[in-house]
Amino acid sequence: MKILLAIGFVLAVANTALAPDAPSGYVYWKTLKVRATAYCPCVRCCKNHANGKTSIGKNAWKPNGCAVNPSESPYGTMVHIPGVGFRVADDRGPRGRNKLDVRYVYHWQARKFGSGFKNVKLYRKGRRMEGTQKEAYEIISAVASMIKDSKYGWGADFDLAAVVDDLGELETIKGEE
Ligand SMILES: [Zn+2]
Repeated sequence: MKILLAIGFVLAVANTALAPDAPSGYVYWKTLKVRATAYCPCVRCCKNHANGKTSIGKNAWKPNGCAVNPSESPYGTMVHIPGVGFRVADDRGPRGRNKLDVRYVYHWQARKFGSGFKNVKLYRKGRRMEGTQKEAYEIISAVASMIKDSKYGWGADFDLAAVVDDLGELETIKGEE
């Protein structure tokens, strides 16, 4: 477990260094490996939901969104998709976990995107932290998500997620000062 943590730490530092800057008003949350597909607002893609609106009532013709499993990535999460850029989670996507549907305006664009596995970075709304607090938060949350996603799972008595949650509260308290 210690070796795994050390490897995770090194990878997380590298990962954080390579992560694109969070958009204003968002903080890095975690990285997910997803099977990415694409869609457009047309009736072929959306069937009887093709009413020009996303499942939360946003304009589906705006090519700034993506469809997710909201229990995994809540609506409003900002997602960085390699080769695509930043998209906000604003529509209900494919069922199941670790899937993401990128929204385009035209059907041919969605077809061209095809499908494939991508490491997407999730950012949630929050105040930007500065200096060592920010670095600690990003490293710990990256390590937490990596260990959680690995085949080793969590150690029996070690709950890194709780540590990340505590740091999240710290962030809120700091923000209200
Ligand atoms: Zn379509």
